[in-house]
Amino acid sequence: MSRQPVTVVTGGSRGIGAAVCVRLAADGHHVALGYRSDAAAAEAVAVAVREVGRRCVTVRMDTTDEAGVDLLFDTAAAELGPVTGLVNNAGVGGPTGPLADADAAGLRRALDVNVVGYLLCARRAVRDMTGSGGGAIVNMSSAAATLGSPGEYIHYAAAKAAVDTMTIGLSKEVAAAGIRVNAVAPGIIRTDFHADPERPDKAAAGIPLGRPGEPEEIAGAVAWLLSEDASYATGAILRVAGGR
Ligand code: NAP
Repeated sequence: MSRQPVTVVTGGSRGIGAAVCVRLAADGHHVALGYRSDAAAAEAVAVAVREVGRRCVTVRMDTTDEAGVDLLFDTAAAELGPVTGLVNNAGVGGPTGPLADADAAGLRRALDVNVVGYLLCARRAVRDMTGSGGGAIVNMSSAAATLGSPGEYIHYAAAKAAVDTMTIGLSKEVAAAGIRVNAVAPGIIRTDFHADPERPDKAAAGIPLGRPGEPEEIAGAVAWLLSEDASYATGAILRVAGGR
């Protein structure tokens, strides 16, 4: 019998992360949901997970804080069982506009959450999965990594390019331990991530499929990469961006 999937999802309280939690539950995963501030939103997602018969724990933490990352993984293992999956999803855009106008604290925070936070969570996942039967990691990148996001947030695009690079390197580093590491690179998805709430609809004309994406359309890609159907996929960056 195959192992019960137990997956840690960072930033699971809203947007793409919330859709991932619900989708993974439908696919049979127990879920450990990390979130930063909105306890009510996190609990609503946990209720949706439990409604389909899966277990869910919510942990308030910050992915840039080593102790917070340990708390999330310790809670997952204690309450749900050995961790088999990580969705490194918690991300922030930071300041928007040209680089010339960006404040240094905002730049640093965006790099901290989008790069250091991902590395800390992946490090802990690899430590837990090594010697316990392996597992799978999915990093949430962005189409911005290859588009560069001029005039919007090139620091964010650069951070997501780092996510792509860590995905490739880590996939090779841990393959022998039975751990697969992949990324999903979404295009413009309808969530509260955008400083301008109308950005997804305003961008529609420049998207070949003619519309922004929905969080559930990203969740499906994540679920596939975590599944046995993707057993030979590692080091892949799966672009789900409507053709952008
Ligand atoms: P979102 O709606 O703004 O949600 C972000 C989530 O991350 C929230 O649950 C938030 O928790 C959590 N979070 C943020 N910083 C955190 C931290 N330091 N520690 C723990 N949790 C933290 O964003 P989204 O649109 O779903 O984006 C999810 C991921 O997809 C991000 O990595 C983003 O870069 C990427 N992405 C998004 C788009 C898009 O168009 N939306 C496109 C490409 C890539 P609280 O609510 O509690 O603060």
